[in-house]
Amino acid sequence: GRAERERLRIAIQKSGRLAEPARTLLSACGLDWRVQGDRLFCHGESLPVDLLLVRDDDIPGLIADQVCDLGFVGRNVLAEQDGERRASGQPSAFREWRALGFGACRLALAVPDGWQWTGPGQLAGRRIATSYPVLLREWLAREGVDADVVRLSGSVEIAPRLGQADAVCDLVSSGATLAANQLKPVATVLESEAVLAGPVEPLEGVRGELAGLLLRRLDGALQVRNTRLLMFQASRDALPDLLPLLPTSQTPTVMPVEGGDRLALQALCGSAVTWQQLEALKRAGASGLMVLPVEGMLA
Ligand code: ATP
Ligand code: MG
Repeated sequence: GRAERERLRIAIQKSGRLAEPARTLLSACGLDWRVQGDRLFCHGESLPVDLLLVRDDDIPGLIADQVCDLGFVGRNVLAEQDGERRASGQPSAFREWRALGFGACRLALAVPDGWQWTGPGQLAGRRIATSYPVLLREWLAREGVDADVVRLSGSVEIAPRLGQADAVCDLVSSGATLAANQLKPVATVLESEAVLAGPVEPLEGVRGELAGLLLRRLDGALQVRNTRLLMFQASRDALPDLLPLLPTSQTPTVMPVEGGDRLALQALCGSAVTWQQLEALKRAGASGLMVLPVEGMLA
């Protein structure tokens, strides 16, 4: 039965935008799987953590039904399906555990290029096509606008040209698809990215321990992804000028260099270090500047 299962089961998208980055992130957490051709189930090798490869839309339901313990899915899908449950009086059965920093996009309202956008009030009495009717209705309610929501499962962006709707509410990243359909984004309904989804309550027993282990590794992997180690040398009297220029809030490690008054410094930075920042440090007396990616971290 589901309660006794002693292996953790994670649902990820089988194919699509989130499939590759999800696998890469899980690999960075030290997980690997026996390759099983085109199968939907991947048996975990190094840890008792198995993968289920599914349509992204199925992931929240799999967690709600406890078929899977965790899932990687867009916040847009999770929020819409959570809203659906709320709208039909069901209790929440899943929630966002972590934001994962990939699959960034936004659910945006877009109107025909020709419209002079004056604000949400302009949508009153109009038809808006979307695959996210719950999120759109909630936004319309917040804005105090009464509009008709037309639910479409795909090809939302051509609805205005087909005369099915006046405006759309759709996922946007670059905006190229909207532009190709003579639409322009005018308001954001939801900022989205891929998230780790899990049950509302923490998992218990063996699976709880596995989830805890995975979360600690995931946090390390997410942190490391943007972390750089900045190293350089400088004379002691240049320090007061250099320290305020460091692109980090953490205090650097300062070590004496053998046989002289020079110091070696290293500082962990939470994001990429720019050429401008390196040049400023050099002007202030730093030499031998080096920026290194960080491979692993455990606090
Ligand atoms: P599936 O076959 O699994 O149902 P899908 O076609 O519903 O796939 P994809 O197009 O692969 O899904 O998108 C998955 C997720 O990627 C979206 O739910 C969203 O969170 C994210 N995403 C990022 N950028 C975009 C974008 N420009 N358009 C659509 N989704 C995007
Ligand atoms: Mg889908």
